[in-house]
Amino acid sequence: MSDPHISLVIPIYNEEELIETLFVRCINALSKVSDNFEIICVDDGSTDKSLNKLIECHNKDIRFKVLILARNFGHQAAYTAGLEYAKGEYIAMMDGDMQDPPELLKEMYESLVSESLDIVYGKRTERKEKFPKRLFINTFHLLFKKIIKIDMDVDVGNFSMFNRKALNAFLSFKERSRYLPGLRSFIGFSQGSIEYSRPDRMRGEAKMNFGKLFNLGLDAFFSLSNFPIRICLFTGLAGVILFFLATVYTLVSKLSGIAPFGWSSTILSIYLVASIQLLFLGIIGEYISRIYKEVQNRPLFIVKQFID
Ligand code: UDP
Ligand code: MG
Repeated sequence: MSDPHISLVIPIYNEEELIETLFVRCINALSKVSDNFEIICVDDGSTDKSLNKLIECHNKDIRFKVLILARNFGHQAAYTAGLEYAKGEYIAMMDGDMQDPPELLKEMYESLVSESLDIVYGKRTERKEKFPKRLFINTFHLLFKKIIKIDMDVDVGNFSMFNRKALNAFLSFKERSRYLPGLRSFIGFSQGSIEYSRPDRMRGEAKMNFGKLFNLGLDAFFSLSNFPIRICLFTGLAGVILFFLATVYTLVSKLSGIAPFGWSSTILSIYLVASIQLLFLGIIGEYISRIYKEVQNRPLFIVKQFID
């Protein structure tokens, strides 16, 4: 059988109430784009009836495929697994909780083809998540934009479509701690966006709880910037400057006779030791962050085209 024209990858973790709707809406939406498609649902170690429901859907339509992971690996890993298995010429990734409306895939596809783009991602014009979560997400996006020097739109998530060339580049990143929207931006190519208003999840609880979201946020910062380790270096430098100021102050106090006996030497050694420690931690950190980058083994550059 020929490879599908379109692949849709959806991670699923305990979404039993949603799978039937998901199945119907995705099949309908993709049928409007092409007859030749596959949907790969990645079961990320669900403990409810999700897997049975996914298999039932597969029995109704074999274009609906199920990739079963051995346990819960987290949704970034689940997405990656699905993308590795996808055979399509155009490949989309979409959350399974209906926050990413499958009806928009047609618009994404048309924009990819008509504007000769390599990647199209969904950009949220508004969010319907509840208060504390929304605040957390907005703060994250703001910090991410300010600190990480890759040119990335704020308020974008996983919802996107790639052509095969861009996806292969994307998949050549083998690092373990990953933040896919950041990586997608990092690889370059011609990218475009479509805007949509993001509803809250259709049913069920969010599977990305606060802890998982926090870890994802840390992964994003640690894998895409050396800012965290730089904080040590800058604090150390500030400490050293403070030490010199403190030295002057202490000597003046001593010479003018207002300092009690022993105070000067104690306070100075505390400043000195603490700032030197921080300074060296910062320098070691610079080394570690470079070693870490080597171990991540990212390609140094990506060839976009080979004109032979
Ligand atoms: N998900 C997953 N593994 C996990 C957590 C979530 O595959 O460990 C799936 C989940 O079923 C959903 C998608 O990833 O299809 C996004 O999860 P969720 O809606 O909880 O994330 P949020 O919208 O809160 O970021
Ligand atoms: Mg969601």
